[in-house]
Amino acid sequence: MTIPFLDLKTISAQYRQDLIEAATRVIDSGWYIQGTELKAFESEFAAYCGTQHCIGVANGLDALTLTLRAWKELGKLKEGDEVIAPANTYIASILAITENRLTPVLVEPDPATYNISPAKIRAVITDKTKAIIAVHLYGQLADMPEIMSIADEHGLLVLEDSAQAHGAAINGRKAGNCGHASGFSFYPGKNLGALGDAGAVTTNDDELAQTIRALGNYGSHKKYENLYQGVNSRLDEMQAAMLRVKLKQLDAETERRKEIALAYAKGIQNPIISQPISADNTLLALEKHVFHLYVIRIVEREAAQAHLAKAGIQTLIHYPIPPHQQQAYKRWNDQSYPLTEAIHQQVLSLPISPVMTDDQVNAVIAACNSFKMQ
Ligand SMILES: *Cc1c(COP(=O)(O)O)cnc(C)c1O
Repeated sequence: MTIPFLDLKTISAQYRQDLIEAATRVIDSGWYIQGTELKAFESEFAAYCGTQHCIGVANGLDALTLTLRAWKELGKLKEGDEVIAPANTYIASILAITENRLTPVLVEPDPATYNISPAKIRAVITDKTKAIIAVHLYGQLADMPEIMSIADEHGLLVLEDSAQAHGAAINGRKAGNCGHASGFSFYPGKNLGALGDAGAVTTNDDELAQTIRALGNYGSHKKYENLYQGVNSRLDEMQAAMLRVKLKQLDAETERRKEIALAYAKGIQNPIISQPISADNTLLALEKHVFHLYVIRIVEREAAQAHLAKAGIQTLIHYPIPPHQQQAYKRWNDQSYPLTEAIHQQVLSLPISPVMTDDQVNAVIAACNSFKMQ
């Protein structure tokens, strides 16, 4: 038996007929950019998140970059302002900051959740701090109530990076509707994935929404009139149509992810493996986690990965190198974030695709339980 990490082929095959019908609708319409599919998807996804606005853009990185850029155009941020962000995140969260010539201030996570620690946010706030990027890493909502109260106290903007957390919620309030704005990715491997690149921003701020919409369309708010030196970052009709099909299935897929996560939490009983949730969690308590990834920690990661591979189980590492140790950010290479560095050395993501069978889930559990210290 081989167990792929994420079986996109089987996921798409389930919705094949609906996807083909949606693609045919777009082909036959003769209208491929900024049309009715995008409009419909934007209102459906805004309704899903509970926000006033959803603005489709080309990808998740653009969603984050354009939001910070819009705040600059609106005079709420300026070059050199400090933006607090997690040290352990996918590099896109940080690229959005540096692309705008803002200064990232990296903060270590809470080791239990891997999400940015509110106490450590408080410790780095200065007069120059103007915004926080809260990443909902691995699909688990960051501590948004606490982060928003810090932001209110200090007058900071909060941008959620919801690329991994479509549908995660706290007390019914969903990712995308917790901060002042939120960037989503619909990269194929995300919980809500297109069949290509796509992204969106959600917000309740009318002015921000208008500005992002203009920035992503050459800076134009009105045909042939340009307010800003914008970019071309649009979500096309074909991907919007694919996303409308996939959005209808999102909650059911998330439920299956949670079932698999709970099976792992209960079934994996190996004292050298740290789990992301405890075995007595209920699905209800898992409201805030949509398990984009199921990430275990193990000191002897490479050996564990090889052991699982021998059993036909594909695992991945999210992520092997933290942003501050990348070549791209050479100037930060001598900075030290010990917790982040330890996490990057020890994390291992188990397969968690919504189409996994119970037999496959049990095979992963058995392989984890048979791994022994080398
Ligand atoms: C995937 C991802 C992004 C970037 O999204 P793209 O659509 O690939 O540009 C940003 N932040 C996080 C946390 C992500 O996982």
